[in-house]
Amino acid sequence: MIVVFLGAPGTGKGSQAKILEKEFGLSQVSTGEMLRGEIKKSTELGKLASSYLDKGELLPNEVMIRMIENLLISTDNQAGYIFDGFPRTLEQAEAFDNLLKKISKSLDYVLYFHTSRESLIKRLISRRICSNCGKDYNLIVNPSLTGVCDLCNGVIVQRDDDKEEVINHRMAIYEQLTQPLINYYTLQDKLKIIDSEKTISDIYEEIKPMFVKKSRE
Ligand code: AMP
Repeated sequence: MIVVFLGAPGTGKGSQAKILEKEFGLSQVSTGEMLRGEIKKSTELGKLASSYLDKGELLPNEVMIRMIENLLISTDNQAGYIFDGFPRTLEQAEAFDNLLKKISKSLDYVLYFHTSRESLIKRLISRRICSNCGKDYNLIVNPSLTGVCDLCNGVIVQRDDDKEEVINHRMAIYEQLTQPLINYYTLQDKLKIIDSEKTISDIYEEIKPMFVKKSRE
């Protein structure tokens, strides 16, 4: 099964993807995490990516499309994939449709995680991440229990692009380039709206049946 998680930064897409990955054997494809991994390893892609990430800008469409194409060609998880952070522009969405057609797959759902701008900003400012394994935390709704990463004891830090001055720019880019995808997928009859003001476990209970149903088919 192929699912896209759509929504502004900080709506809890990554947290849900990680639960579904564990429960249903799906692979989470977080383009943001992949790029942060490349930056950490100082690869050519990482060097290119860091200037975009630092400023909260999107990488060029062709770079992202190639990255997803390479991933889909080189891996084959029969259970399926959750795309978290891709596509983020209309050009990426169209290329993604073509790519899926090429490998005889199709998109099952697009889950649109929706919340108010105010709570998004609040969530992003209080978001933290493990500098070692990438696990997400939030100082208010999902703090670490131990002060370090609960999974690997890594140091918990704030992402540079979650600092207040970059957040506003990321939100503007989201509204301008990513929001048009809501209409794009509504027209394809794929969009399900999820209220992300709810707790992580309530959202999970709401979306779980879509995955149970699909994995039985
Ligand atoms: P995220 O972790 O999803 O918030 O992504 C962090 C950053 O990675 C974004 O602000 C962009 O700079 C870059 N990025 C991630 N996914 C994409 C994408 N699909 N298209 C362009 N840039 C992306």
